[in-house]
This record gives sequence, C-alpha cells and structure tokens, in this order.
Amino acid sequence: MKIYNCFINNKWVKPHSGKWFYSENPANGEEWAKVSDCNSEDVNDAVKAAKDAFYEGEWSMISAAQRGRYLHRIGEVVTKYADRLGKVETKDNGKLPKNITPSLRQGQWLVDSWHYYGGMCDKFEGKLIPSEATNIHNYMHWEPYGVVAQILPWNSPLGTLFWKLAPCLAAGNTVVLKPSEHASCSILELMEILIEAELPPGVINVVTGYGKSVGEPLIEHKDVRMVSFTGGTSGGRAVASIASKQTKPIVMELGGKSPQIILPDADIDLAVNGVVSGIFPAGGQSCISGSRILIHKSIFKEVTKKLLTISKKAVVGDPLDPKTHIGPIANKNHYENILKNISKATEDGCEIILDGRTHKKDKGYFVGPTIFSNVPNSSFLAQNEIFGPVISTEPWEDESEVIKKANDTIYGLAAGIWTKDTIKGMRLANRIESGTVYINNYFNAATQSPVGGYKQSGYGRENGWEGMRCFMQTKSVWLSTKPSEPDPFL
Ligand code: NDP
Repeated sequence: MKIYNCFINNKWVKPHSGKWFYSENPANGEEWAKVSDCNSEDVNDAVKAAKDAFYEGEWSMISAAQRGRYLHRIGEVVTKYADRLGKVETKDNGKLPKNITPSLRQGQWLVDSWHYYGGMCDKFEGKLIPSEATNIHNYMHWEPYGVVAQILPWNSPLGTLFWKLAPCLAAGNTVVLKPSEHASCSILELMEILIEAELPPGVINVVTGYGKSVGEPLIEHKDVRMVSFTGGTSGGRAVASIASKQTKPIVMELGGKSPQIILPDADIDLAVNGVVSGIFPAGGQSCISGSRILIHKSIFKEVTKKLLTISKKAVVGDPLDPKTHIGPIANKNHYENILKNISKATEDGCEIILDGRTHKKDKGYFVGPTIFSNVPNSSFLAQNEIFGPVISTEPWEDESEVIKKANDTIYGLAAGIWTKDTIKGMRLANRIESGTVYINNYFNAATQSPVGGYKQSGYGRENGWEGMRCFMQTKSVWLSTKPSEPDPFL
C-alpha cells in the first residue's frame, strides 16, 4: 500500500497525529493508499515553511522572469509524468483517464496554465499616475499577498489546482494546499514529481486531512493572507465566515445548477449531443454540469426521446476499460448522497424516465444517466446541485419566461443556449446571470478565458489576466521632489 506523508519544505513529513486515513478506489471499493491525517500542528509547520520562503527564502529574492522560468519547468515536468499523474487520479476518484491525462500533455489546455502564467509573470507592469499634486510622483505596482491557502474539492483535484496554483505562484506568493480528504493522492503524487522542477523549499506545501481539522486552522492562521477555495456553496459559506473574522480576501469557485436552454429553432441533434456531453461523461461531477434542461414546448417530445435514446447507450463501469463512457461516482459518501437525492425527487412526485440506479454493481459506486421529466423549476431537484448524472427537463413557451426560469436559482456558474439564430443566442446570453455562457457548445474552457460564478456560485475569477490579478494587491507610492515643505503651524 502506498503511504503519502505531508509535504512541507520540499520534504515528506509524518503527520503529528501519527495517523493516516485510506484512499478507496471507487471503481472496486479497495483501499490502496494511506494519506496523512494532519492537524493544526502540521498546518503551523506548513505555514511557517511558506512564510519563510516568502519573506526570507529564495522565492522573495528572484525576479518575476525567473519565477516564470520555474513555472515553465513545472509545465514540462507535468507533461513528462502525465500518465503517472492521471493513473493516480483515476484510482483516487474514478475519473476516466481520457478526461485527465490528455489535458496534462504539452499544448493542452490544463498544462497550458503553467506556460501561460509563466509568460505572464513579468507582464504585470506598474504605472505612473498623473495626479493634481505638483512635484509629487505617484506610482503604483503589484505585489503578492504572501502565504496563500488553497483548498480543493475531490472531483477534479489536478484541474482545480492548476487553475489556482499557477497564477498564485506567478504572482509571487507561496502556498499551503489542502486537498479534499476524498481525493488527495494525485496532488501528493504531483509533489513527488515536482522535485524535478527544483522549486525552492517552502514554496508549495501540502497538508492533508479534513475540513474541520486542517481546513479551518489553515484559514484561521494569522500568517495566511489570502484564501482560494474551490468547493460546494455551503463549504464556501463556512470558509468565508471564518476568513471574514480577519477580513482575509478570498476567491471562491463554488457550485452550480446550470440551465441548458433549447430554443425551437435549435439543431436538435447538436443540442442533444451537447446537453448529454455537458453532464453525463463526468458522471455529473463537474461544477458546470448543465443539469436543468429547459426545452421549448414545441420540441419537448422530440428532444426528450432523443435524450433517452442517446443516454441509454452509455457504458457505465471500470474507468480503466477503454469502452467505458462513465466511471464510478468518486466516493461512497457522495454515491449515497446521489441515491438519496434521486429517491427524494421521486418521492416529491418528479417523473423518472431513465433510472441510473439500475447500473449498480457488486463492487464500486456506479450510477448511470438519470432523467426526470416535466420537473417544475421550483422543486428540490431543480433547485439543488446533485453533482451526479441526473438531469431534469421542463418545457417552456416564451423567451422571457425561460430567462426567468434559467436565472431562478441561487447559482450562476454556467448556462447553455441552443439555437440556429446566433444573434438571438447572444441577446439571451446577455440576460443570463452566470459567469460563463455557451452558445451551441458546452464545456469548453481555456487558460486564457476567465471562469467564475455570479450570485452564490462564487466571486473572483480563475484563468486569464484576472486569474493572476486576484492573487495580487496594488501598492500606491507617493514620492515628493519638493525641496521644502511649509511648516503647517505657521
Ligand atoms: P466541499 O465544499 O465539501 O469541500 C471542498 C474542500 O473544502 C474540501 O477540501 C473540504 O475538506 C474543505 N472544507 C469543507 N468545509 C470546510 C471548512 N469549514 N473549513 C475549511 N475547509 C473546508 O466540496 P466538495 O469537495 O464536495 O466538492 C464538490 C463541490 O465543488 C461541488 O459543489 C462543485 O460544484 C464544486 N466545484 C466548483 C468548481 C468551480 O470552479 N466553481 C470546480 C469544481 C468543483 P474535506 O472534504 O476534506 O473535509
């Protein structure tokens, strides 16, 4: 069995508790790795390492361009070990290798983060500000915060990490990471391979364990100056409330309940394939999964029929089998939650027309595509993030009604619009309250393009220029060239 200790100051360190917890492979229920059950003492050690690296270590001494060279090196090392990282993540959370490994290879969108921000390190220029005052120069420049805590979810550990880690380091911060207790192994494996990137000690540290025993002391630590969190909206509220006690800035990437609006003039095959691809292949365990399908009344029957036909073809099973389309649910806890939510929806009277529970197997945690029909937008099912392969459909008649419905949740992460009328699609996109809107496609993302939530789906942005700006603060410096200053009391 593989044992992962915590990673502090470029060294593997046993947890103070002397305890480890197990990672269970969700495809077969077997425990295959032990992960450190850290506590606040480990958090203190990790924050100290990150603080020393920031204030006294090499990281604070090097130029922005030199930081960039480190980031490019990380990108190269990740590519070199893409298969190894992908294999560990599949064992840890059941994600299909084809949904992890290709994106870690050179020229692909995920690994590109390292090169994009590697190049951006020395592009954040300050400026001289023309103020009213004479003989005074006012200039501003960008500075990092210091030690940043980064807290990750289990559905896509490497993906969610790269989006925050690359810009955070590019900005000059040092980091303490807390992965989800359900999926820590690919992050720890990454630390093993990063030794080859020869980062100075203390720049990246990883403490593993639970939200209460590791996440909370990390956010509360007085030397942590900023928090970047990806997780559920309720976890985000808890984190924000702790951070607010010390008015710490936070970037929040939270949950969603994203609508897919199908207009009467849509190319129906394109829309159905897009809707299905936008949720089922990842088992619905993606923050932007389009789970509320709002279909124009005139095509409701036809779209529903096609949704059923294509969804029934999905092969649910072993993520390592190349024929598999949908792998397991990432962990037992979450599997049980999904089953509970499906039962609740049926008890609430929602009509189930495809029941993914039939994909249950003797070992592992499997749920197939599940479709509920004619689900009112006000219902529990339409309002709550199930984070599983579950969609609800609802017919609509006029445009202003569907926009109201699409916006009528606490979330605002993403939305899809399917129409042949591009201008109409753009007009509707402007009225949707969400951080990302797709027209006639879904699930695209790029390092260059900002992502984030409206409403309770979060604040701050990842990716693009804004993704790095979030990890920096401005300093305004006033420099006087006046030869003398009048005595204020004369
Ligand atoms: P959670 O909010 O349950 O947990 C996220 C992380 O926060 C975990 O590491 C967890 O620790 C930690 N945590 C939870 N409570 C606290 C606390 N009080 N203090 C400090 N840390 C805490 O989310 P999940 O892991 O269940 O992830 C799924 C959610 O993430 C979904 O809602 C999904 O939409 C969202 N997500 C959002 C993305 C986006 O970009 N907007 C991308 C990916 C996912 P532990 O669980 O180990 O106890």
